[in-house]
Amino acid sequence: MANFSKQREAILGVLNGTKTHPDAAWVYSETRKLIPNISLGTVYRNLAKLQESGEIVSLGVYGGVERFDADVKEHLHFYCKNCQKILDISDKQILPIKKISKLLDAEIDGVTCVFEGKCNDCVNSSKSN
Ligand SMILES: [Zn+2]
Ligand SMILES: [Zn+2]
Repeated sequence: MANFSKQREAILGVLNGTKTHPDAAWVYSETRKLIPNISLGTVYRNLAKLQESGEIVSLGVYGGVERFDADVKEHLHFYCKNCQKILDISDKQILPIKKISKLLDAEIDGVTCVFEGKCNDCVNSSKSN
């Protein structure tokens, strides 16, 4: 059991240490630096458990892979279709949660909305070409 919680802590730590919204393969390669003998299956199982317990969220599949976020506070995302980068949108003003819950007369306790397009880096590099 101690081993299990050690793996889980390591994976959560890896995800907490990044803002890149990585996929399981990236989490696996980073976690192996801390626990060299961990398997990809163990990483997947722990990612599922961390999702169940609400410590991380899955943003869904982008660029062909599922992307994860350890920031579980309500915030929106922007996905660059060109370089597969996912950026946080933390401006609370544009979160339409209150409006939508009024509209539907529903209780909203999570957001997975993702905007898509080209990020600033990609816009600038296509301008200079
Ligand atoms: Zn995020
Ligand atoms: Zn981009």
